[in-house]
Amino acid sequence: MKNQGLGSWISRRRVKSEGDIAVIQGDRAYRYEELGDRIDRFASALAERGVAKGDRVAYLGNNHPDFLTSFFACGLVGAIFVPLNTRLAPRELEYMIEDSGARLLIAHEELRDVARAAAWSSAIERRIIVDGPAEVPAVESFEEVVAAASATPPVAEVTLDDPAMILYTSGTTGRPKGAVLTHGNFTWNSMNVLVDYDLTSEERTLLIAPMFHVASLGMGALPTLLKGGTLVVQEKVDPGAVLAAVQEHGITSLSGVPTTFQMLAEHPGWDEADLSTLRRLTCGGSSVPLRVIEAYEKRGLSFSSGYGMTETSPGATSLPYRKAREHVGSSGIAHFFTDVRIASPDGDEMPAGEAGEIEISGPNVMKEYWLRPDATRDAHRGEWLRSGDIGFLDEQGYLTISDRVKDMIISGGENIYPAEIEQLIMERTEIESVAVIGVPDERWGEVPLAIAVARSEITAEDVLAHLAGRIAKYKIPRGVRFVDELPRTASGKVRKVALRGKFTLE
Ligand code: ATP
Ligand code: MG
Repeated sequence: MKNQGLGSWISRRRVKSEGDIAVIQGDRAYRYEELGDRIDRFASALAERGVAKGDRVAYLGNNHPDFLTSFFACGLVGAIFVPLNTRLAPRELEYMIEDSGARLLIAHEELRDVARAAAWSSAIERRIIVDGPAEVPAVESFEEVVAAASATPPVAEVTLDDPAMILYTSGTTGRPKGAVLTHGNFTWNSMNVLVDYDLTSEERTLLIAPMFHVASLGMGALPTLLKGGTLVVQEKVDPGAVLAAVQEHGITSLSGVPTTFQMLAEHPGWDEADLSTLRRLTCGGSSVPLRVIEAYEKRGLSFSSGYGMTETSPGATSLPYRKAREHVGSSGIAHFFTDVRIASPDGDEMPAGEAGEIEISGPNVMKEYWLRPDATRDAHRGEWLRSGDIGFLDEQGYLTISDRVKDMIISGGENIYPAEIEQLIMERTEIESVAVIGVPDERWGEVPLAIAVARSEITAEDVLAHLAGRIAKYKIPRGVRFVDELPRTASGKVRKVALRGKFTLE
């Protein structure tokens, strides 16, 4: 029987990368052969507990080598891994556990109570606790399970078309949907990363975002392991610890979301840190404030921004480093094996320079949402996946993202993209974060209003004066409301759904 899936990656690496370190966390380090052995044993344990091909296994935990052990072991037996976001409330987790129909839950010790609350009424039969003791027969300890299991696992026949993971979207625009990502989707996304970012087996990649997000897993962890590099894993996003790890481990590659890169550049240790080993910085998930790009350029570091989504495992476009300066503001060109086009509402391809919905096709693009045939149908147009984002391509195929379809404001018949206005407001360093939303207006239908968090003294008039003359008058917000914080998803994105309706012009 053949296993072509991700489950076989580490055993295929055993000889090729013998002696090399696969993953490090704190004082724990596993060579490729040790990681492979743990994966084999955990796969045996899963099979002994009745987990078979197609069964779902949920994982609730922050970054840890055993996230990878569990994921690859599921791949060996053909089970579908369901990573859960640890910042969600028990009720939200319960929805994902129920929706995916997970049979087994792997949870970290510090999340034992949350796991208990979330899996209370579900069909979960067993829980395996990472870094913690067993409790009752249905709750086992990860280390004991691994130690007692056979080193020769049953290997299921797995093809690239079989599902590897159900990954829930961030829930920025509504209830999270479970994207079904196959072994092939992740394999091809990794190939895109290897080709477009020139990854080597000397790569030392620091994971600064949680692996339950597709960006950290798909752009960082998987391609590094496919190539035989080393992963350095940190549990929490802590800018000081990131700067320290870069220097201690000679980190070559960092990928994360804009807010993390912003926190790094604003950390007091930033100016003194030796960042000379860094050569691959990739950022995606939302737009990057220009002042952040500039802070990195001052240190001689080029920043590649990319565009992607959970449904595309996740890379759709990326900006080649050599072109970062020339194409500031662009999210780059389609990844090597992936195609991107712009479509009109009727599905016609739009010419260069004209805005429309971004559509993506290629071997990294999911085929379906888990148990959501209607959402699956709505998200597809033939071979194309509809992203729900608006943007345009230039003559060479560089993509500029305008905003989400759902966030666009229509004022007196003109389309306004809040992201453009937010980018400008963020130039004022007194502003920590801002969201521009549409509010009802009798005359214009909708008008923009800015909701901002300030870190130091600034008035609404200052903000508006900064915009005057820089953008068309109709795009200038009718006011600025200051709040203590913006409502965010567990992945840190502003939930504009929660802001709309809360603010009016009065
Ligand atoms: P949901 O689909 O549940 O509403 P979500 O779309 O935020 O949540 P993700 O899959 O995590 O879930 O995020 C993908 C989205 O993030 C994209 O559709 C796009 O709107 C946004 N995005 C990703 N990369 C960029 C980027 N470089 N610039 C601007 N926006 C981006
Ligand atoms: Mg989405």
